[in-house]
This record gives sequence, C-alpha cells and structure tokens, in this order.
Amino acid sequence: MSVLIFIDQSEGHIKKNALEAATYGNHLAQQMGVDANAVVLGNVQDDLTTLGQYGIKNVFQVADSALSNLDAQQYVAAISAAVEQANASVVVFSHNQTGKAIAARVAAKLKAGLVAGASALPVLNDGFVVKKSVFSGKAFAHVKVTSEKKVISINPNSYKIEANGSATANVVAVSVSLPSARVVVTNVEKVSGDVPLTEAEVVVSGGRGLKGPENWGILLDLAQVLGAATACSRPVGDAHWRPHHEHVGQTGVQIAPNLYIAIGISGAIQHLAGVNRSKVIVVINKDPEAPFFKAADYGIVGDAFDVVPKLTAAIKKLKGVA
Ligand SMILES: Cc1cc2nc3c(=O)[nH]c(=O)nc-3n(C[C@H](O)[C@H](O)[C@H](O)COP(=O)(O)OP(=O)(O)OC[C@H]3O[C@@H](n4cnc5c(N)ncnc54)[C@H](O)[C@@H]3O)c2cc1C
Repeated sequence: MSVLIFIDQSEGHIKKNALEAATYGNHLAQQMGVDANAVVLGNVQDDLTTLGQYGIKNVFQVADSALSNLDAQQYVAAISAAVEQANASVVVFSHNQTGKAIAARVAAKLKAGLVAGASALPVLNDGFVVKKSVFSGKAFAHVKVTSEKKVISINPNSYKIEANGSATANVVAVSVSLPSARVVVTNVEKVSGDVPLTEAEVVVSGGRGLKGPENWGILLDLAQVLGAATACSRPVGDAHWRPHHEHVGQTGVQIAPNLYIAIGISGAIQHLAGVNRSKVIVVINKDPEAPFFKAADYGIVGDAFDVVPKLTAAIKKLKGVA
C-alpha cells in the first residue's frame, strides 16, 4: 500500500502547490506506516529525484508529450495506471485548477471517496476523518471516508512545505496507452506577470474605492515594493479597469496568500469567499463601517490616496530601497 501524490507541473517546472501536496502526502503516509510515491505527467525539466527531499520514494512518470496539455480523460488514464503500479490506497492532489478538474474523475474511476478542499491531515483513530472548509470558508466540516480507496485534494497554502535532507527519489517510467484526446488545444494565450495570482505569497488588491484605472499606479507601486501579485474586486474587472484574470471572489479566482492587502474594497460576502483563507488580511478603507474590517487582521481607516503612498514609502525605507 502507498499514498500517491499528483505532482502538478507547468512548462516543465514543479508547482509550489505540488510541493505542499507532496509534504501533506508524505506526512499522511508516515501516519499510515506506508510509502509516499508520486506521479508526474508529461516532460519535466526539473530534477524529479529531488522529490526525495519531500519524503517521496518513487516518482512514476508518464512522459507522453500528449500530456503537456490538460485533457481530463487522458490525465485520469495516466494517473489510474500509476495508482495501480504504486498500489496506492490514497491519492493526494492540490485543490488548484488542475486538481479541481481531475480529482473527482479519478475518484469516480477508482470508486473512491473524495474530500475536495481538505485543510488538515486526516485523523485516523476513528476511521479516516478529514477536515475541510465549507460554505465559502465560513465553516469546517469533518468528513469520514469509508471507501477502501480515497482521494484528497488539499487547499493551496494550507499546508507548510517541508524539505528534509538530501534524499533522492527513484524515477520510474510508466508507459500508458492513452485514450485519444476529445479536446484539442489550438492556441494558448498566457497571462504574463512575475507572480501568478494563485501562487503569490502576497497580493495587493483594489476595489471601486480607487475611482478609476488611472489611479492604479499607487497600488502597483505598493505591489512592486512588496514583490506582490495584483488583484481586484469584480466590479473593477467588469468595468475593465483591470484585466478579468485579476478578479478574485466567489465568481473569480480563489486565493489564499500569506498576506492580502485590500484597498478601497467594501468586503462583500462574494468577495470574501475568494480571499478569506488568506493568512493575514489588511484592509485600507475610508469608511470605518466597511464590512471588510470584520474579516481583517489589521485595518487602516483612511483615504487610500493618502495612506497607500505613505505605506509604500515606509516599506521602501524599511527595505532600504530608493
Ligand atoms: C452572484 C454574485 C457574485 C459576485 N461575485 C463577486 C466576486 O467574485 N468578487 C467580487 O469582488 N465581487 C463579487 N460580487 C459583487 C459584490 O457583491 C460587490 O458588489 C463587490 O465586491 C463590491 O466591489 P467593491 O468593494 O470594489 O466596490 P464597492 O462596494 O463600491 O466598495 C468600495 C469601497 O471603497 C471604499 N472607498 C471609497 N473611496 C475610498 C478611498 N478614497 N479610500 C479608501 N476607501 C475608499 C468605500 O468605503 C467602499 O467600502 C458578486 C455579486 C453577486 C451578486
């Protein structure tokens, strides 16, 4: 028996979310007294043996170039083959876009119980009970999985990456006869930017309180000095003040950075649904009654046009940046 961790990659590089899943899966394997193995799809530039540092024993790689684009049916076929090879009883994914697209399909194929969006390791002394967030992060549910095989997707940024020593993993090539793709990717338009929003440690986000796109400079300056990704509320995206891919919330991207700075955003429930798993929330709003202050760890009541440049200048001074 083993725990099998799906290692998500992008353009040949292992994603940070995948290392969180690897650490989580390794800790689960230790609890269960079994091996932690991994599955990687497609060609990878990173050295897969380094996954040994995260407790991975064997990395099953299906290096078929057909897998360089996400096709759920092909991914499920490849992962199922690795499940068999690894004799896995638990499969772990990151609950990121890829995990959301395939974990449920893998669970259906394996006739496994699925916990989507887990936030802690399973408790094993009374069956297999996993904590997960529900109601847009407003509550937790404790879910008991009773099936023989189990699939868990772990919320991004909810489990700390731990690398130990210099152990190396064995890389095992797996060949799978993949079903033909029913969807063909003809063109990819990638969003450029230094830090992808879903993987950013720090996010600086703006709302309608900034009045218009011409005022975004103060927010971009703050983001730059913090090395942060930028985000916005939905009306800002809808009004094309900022690109749509920056819109966070219930109907936008869901993020969980270590620090989320909300500037001129009221804190509507639909906005909070996408950001309330952030570790620390700082709110800058001129209205002391703005609902966002209830969800904030730190709040500044003030005019953004006054507060934000001062904050940027203070951080620059602290960092010794001109
Ligand atoms: C089905 C549905 C789904 C939705 N999904 C989302 C979603 O995914 N994401 C999302 O964001 N919204 C979503 N919404 C919209 C949501 O309900 C709110 O309308 C929206 O979040 C409000 O955006 P805002 O806070 O930028 O604007 P506003 O509500 O207009 O708030 C602006 C804030 O800026 C403050 N302000 C004004 N001037 C200044 C200043 N000079 N300095 C500092 N503060 C200032 C004001 O006090 C106010 O609190 C959804 C709504 C529905 C119905």
